[in-house]
Amino acid sequence: MTVLTHKPANKLITTSSDLLPFIESLPDAIVIVNQEHRIVLVNTVAAVMFGHPVEALNGSDLTLLIPVPNRNSHSQSVEGYFRAPHSRPMGVEKRFSGLRADGTEVPVDIMINTIVLDGAEAAMAVVRDVSYQRALEERLTRESLTDGMTGFFNRRYFVAQLEAHHSDALRSGLPTSVMMFDFDHFKTINDQYGHAGGDTVLIDTATMIQRELRALDVACRIGGEEFAIILPNTQLNNAVAFAERIRKRIENMEFSSGDVTFHATITVGVASFTSTDTSYDSLMKRADKLLYAGKAAGRNCVIAQDSAIDSPLIA
Ligand code: GH3
Ligand code: MG
Ligand code: MG
Repeated sequence: MTVLTHKPANKLITTSSDLLPFIESLPDAIVIVNQEHRIVLVNTVAAVMFGHPVEALNGSDLTLLIPVPNRNSHSQSVEGYFRAPHSRPMGVEKRFSGLRADGTEVPVDIMINTIVLDGAEAAMAVVRDVSYQRALEERLTRESLTDGMTGFFNRRYFVAQLEAHHSDALRSGLPTSVMMFDFDHFKTINDQYGHAGGDTVLIDTATMIQRELRALDVACRIGGEEFAIILPNTQLNNAVAFAERIRKRIENMEFSSGDVTFHATITVGVASFTSTDTSYDSLMKRADKLLYAGKAAGRNCVIAQDSAIDSPLIA
């Protein structure tokens, strides 16, 4: 194989017949395109990865391998690349996917470089299938943000989301409410029905709530038997009505531990962002205080923020 390096440094100048045995020996897909976006050379790995025979790929427009929504921006990038070529990884900030013949997408990392192939400028893309890494990354992200027992988000995610919603609410003036609740006398439930009985209460409650939520609501388990639900675009009175519905539903649920059935109740604090909230933290503290006021008032109740004192944002 002839590998000649001339100025600019590192540019490979070669022929298809010399390059082919080399790219066939690589574990990644190689896709070489000319300045007209036509594929001029690929290896067998590329054919397998994209599900097109080598003969079908050679001579085809590169868009064949690009998911439809990305085609326009990709063509522009290719033109820009030939105007100012430099060796670089693609997708450092963006995530790339390739389009397979069967219409499915394959997540890929792409490294791109210019070469001179058969006397013409070409871009050589080294395309690595990163399905395994992406799936692992997604699983680890999901696990770091969710609670394994209920499937709800965890406290860390709750805080991050509340912070984001605070900024949104201030900017848009749209109301965002939070209902925070804690089970009543949960220690007694554990004592009477065992830890497994207590766990059943948490799991069954989460399953019931999940069915009641809108897509935009964010349900979180923020402590052992303490939960918080962010209700975006929801006025205080609607959040209170929702909280009351959930409280009643739980009161009427029948939980079981072995052949014994039992009941449980919750106490809820409901608060909405106000124009004077300087941070998400004020809302969290307010909801928490209301919840404990509810405990002091006898439990199994919903206590809402006093609109006359803390005037909520109203759409
Ligand atoms: P209160 O009405 O004042 O809230 O009384 P409480 O007994 O519920 O008191 P508190 O909220 O402080 O107690 C929480 C109890 O919940 C203590 C802990 O053992 C139990 N708990 C926390 N996490 C879990 C869990 O994952 N499973 C079970 N079964 N119990 C849990
Ligand atoms: Mg409790
Ligand atoms: Mg508690």
